[in-house]
Amino acid sequence: MWKIKQWLSNFFYGRYGNDTFNFALLVLYFIIAIINVIARNVFSITIFFLIQWTVLLTVIFRCLSRNIAARRRENEWFQRVFYKCIAWFKYNMQRIRDFKYKRYRKCPNCKAVLRLPNKKGKHGVKCPSCHTDFKVNIII
Ligand SMILES: [Zn+2]
Repeated sequence: MWKIKQWLSNFFYGRYGNDTFNFALLVLYFIIAIINVIARNVFSITIFFLIQWTVLLTVIFRCLSRNIAARRRENEWFQRVFYKCIAWFKYNMQRIRDFKYKRYRKCPNCKAVLRLPNKKGKHGVKCPSCHTDFKVNIII
């Protein structure tokens, strides 16, 4: 038993291990597995099966890799993209929630997004960040 422990310890020494990107790939793996169960077409089942195994092998490769710097760079890239997607999703959900009372318009000078009250007609607006005056036309 001690020899197995020693062997495992030696095997995993210096390996990268798990991270956020690997966890997301595993979630993707299970989503594809569920789609694969639902899919009834033989062609799509084969395609999903290949994608599923590619994802799983990528997870195993990343987990056991000794090139820690490269794996860390991949994880940073993933986190940057992932949190941008989350921010975009949250921003648009806020816009949908505010649709009844607020309108979002871009400043023509600095491109900042302004959250304006929902009042029909043309209004003069002063951008709070660059102090430019411009007109907005709110139709609905
Ligand atoms: Zn501005």
